[in-house]
Amino acid sequence: MKIGVFTCWCGENIARTVDCQKVSEEAAKIPGVHCSLTYKYMCSDPGQQLIRKQIQETGIDAVVVAACSPHMHLKTFRKACELAGLNPFLVEQANIREHCSWVHPDKEQATAKAIDIIRMAVEKVKHNHALKMIEVPVTKRAMVIGGGVAGIQAALDIASAGYEVVLVEKEPSIGGKMAGLSETFPTLDCSQCILTPRMVDAGQHPNIKLLTYSEVESVEGYVGNFKVRVRKKARYVDIAKCTGCGACWNACPQKKIPNTFDFGLGNRTAVYIPFPQAVPAKPVIDAEHCTKLKTGKCGICEKKCLCGAIKYDDRDEVVTEEVGAIVVSTGYQLYSISRNHAADEQATGHRNIQGYGEYGYGKYPDVIDALQFERLVSASGPTNGEPKRPSDGKIPEKVVFIKCVGSRDNAKGINYCSKICCMYTAKHTMLYKHKVHHGEAHVFYMDIRSGGKKYDEFVRRAIEQDGAVYHRGRVSKITEEDGKLIVRGADTLAGKPVTVEADMVVLAAAMCPTAGSEHLAQKLGVGYDEYGFLTESHPKLRPVETNSAGVFLCGACQAPKDIPEAVAQASAAAAKVLIMFSQPVLTRDPEIAKVDEQRCVACFACGKACPYHAIEKAEIRDRGGNLVKTTARVNPGLCMGCGVCVATCPSKSIDLEGFTEQQVYAQIECLG
Ligand code: FAD
Ligand code: SF4
Ligand code: SF4
Repeated sequence: MKIGVFTCWCGENIARTVDCQKVSEEAAKIPGVHCSLTYKYMCSDPGQQLIRKQIQETGIDAVVVAACSPHMHLKTFRKACELAGLNPFLVEQANIREHCSWVHPDKEQATAKAIDIIRMAVEKVKHNHALKMIEVPVTKRAMVIGGGVAGIQAALDIASAGYEVVLVEKEPSIGGKMAGLSETFPTLDCSQCILTPRMVDAGQHPNIKLLTYSEVESVEGYVGNFKVRVRKKARYVDIAKCTGCGACWNACPQKKIPNTFDFGLGNRTAVYIPFPQAVPAKPVIDAEHCTKLKTGKCGICEKKCLCGAIKYDDRDEVVTEEVGAIVVSTGYQLYSISRNHAADEQATGHRNIQGYGEYGYGKYPDVIDALQFERLVSASGPTNGEPKRPSDGKIPEKVVFIKCVGSRDNAKGINYCSKICCMYTAKHTMLYKHKVHHGEAHVFYMDIRSGGKKYDEFVRRAIEQDGAVYHRGRVSKITEEDGKLIVRGADTLAGKPVTVEADMVVLAAAMCPTAGSEHLAQKLGVGYDEYGFLTESHPKLRPVETNSAGVFLCGACQAPKDIPEAVAQASAAAAKVLIMFSQPVLTRDPEIAKVDEQRCVACFACGKACPYHAIEKAEIRDRGGNLVKTTARVNPGLCMGCGVCVATCPSKSIDLEGFTEQQVYAQIECLG
């Protein structure tokens, strides 16, 4: 084998700490190395041309590029070599940046280490084989899980490109949180006016199949070929027969059920439509509160329905959908600020909830959260947009808005910044002042973070034009005296305590992933962080891909996001799906596990360990059809090449292409 070594400076990233010239000279002395060159930016076009030229002119038949992490550029270098006629799997990348120059201050030692890293890569590449990409067929049909603004956008983009989409939403209607917002920053346009036409488009699109009131049960298969079982929860209304006339919900005698769409601020009936613009605009019966379903009595809605759409004997139904790609857009929920922490932990799935009992949420009816305030000032809300306080329906003369409730609070909440609360709190002060001109809006804040197009101007407008009073400091306690909420805090700029006697308090609670996202992530084999936000493949270069091939993400299920960001990311995820669908077959990396079936003792320890369920039981039979032995076999469509099975197999029957035992030992031994 004639090996070429190409050492990159990465500008100064590597060259500042590693003597690249010396590294290149030493690499030239390693047995098997035919040529060794160095260049300032090996990934640039001239850098790649340098490698290609060497392959074509010197006949080298294996390449080691000493540069950054293979995560960053292995594909780039393999492609460059392939263009010069070399099998891409005869290319290795030695990481002398993250593993060397970035972590060592001493140039001499870093240079010595870089030479060792290259030596190891050279020994490894000597055992590489020419491999062929694996081809898998692709079902050109997608599933989007979560029908908020992000999911709707992704579904519409994919469907408009001509492919079928199954949009799964756990609530009875699509729309997500945006359907409940009042007006939206930074333009203050009405949320419903911009969202509902999109909801209707999604509901009527010939390529979109809506599965509302439905949740994913299980996911089988692999990129291009997923089988997803979806549970359609019993709705007790046949939506094919229902005309949405409203006779049922107008007649239902159970009228005092807290409306979840209004976050408990208004009431609804037992048979209900979540909100007037719902898609589908068909009701659902809440089995927990329906007298007929609980006791067998009542049955009024059935009598009132002229279409025979009420179905008290409805049952959950599980359907299987075959799709080639999945987009997850399950969104967010607000941090639980109520006082029942144990119940909150159970309900939301979030750990270590300590709550903010001192703010009196759940104790004082006029302490509400930010989404409740959205409903109060929304024209479609329980007060028709008048900001009446929940306790007595009076218009509050003084409202205190508290930011960072839960966010950036190492002691009691979560560490991260929820990113959008600065903006929506400024919006809340404006909406309040636009409705109550003489009212006072006070904001307690830690910082104002308003990065974004026209965002800072928006906050300034709230302060300078609409007169919101901003106090820099935290609130320590809220108590109630004579019908007033006494808000005690500090103004750290003025260096003195502040007390505001308020009529209503609005808490900007942190944005957390929707409860249950972790369970869904486990079903999909997608990673999630310590808070439950789904993890992207690479924060910069693969922001909408996940580590599970064929599964993409968008919107607030990945991190706190505002609408423009959620929508942009949704279109990006849709574009990735469309790239997949534009190919006749999918190609997959062949660096996956391989079982030596003769050696396998069929203990299936590997099958239990594999996080991608890629190991299957196979039977080897003789020509007469008699069973010779049972063995583990790797499904090449599912294997992600993580190597867990290799480490688990007690009989050493599994090896990983590209990381064989032979290669790993060769790397270790060359150092001794
Ligand atoms: P969501 O809106 O949360 O939608 C997720 C959907 O997925 C929901 O329908 C949910 O039911 C569904 N779902 C969840 N889990 C599952 C599951 N397992 N299976 C099936 N379906 C599931 N942004 C702005 O740009 N301007 C504003 O003025 C603004 N105001 C805001 C005010 C407040 C108080 C808050 C809290 C946020 C505000 N935002 C604003 C942010 C905005 O709400 C989000 O950016 C947007 O809703 C994110 O959309 P999404 O689709 O990612 O998530
Ligand atoms: Fe639908 Fe019947 Fe209710 Fe009318 S009365 S909304 S048709 S279920
Ligand atoms: Fe599963 Fe092994 Fe492939 Fe990892 S390498 S995905 S454990 S079969």
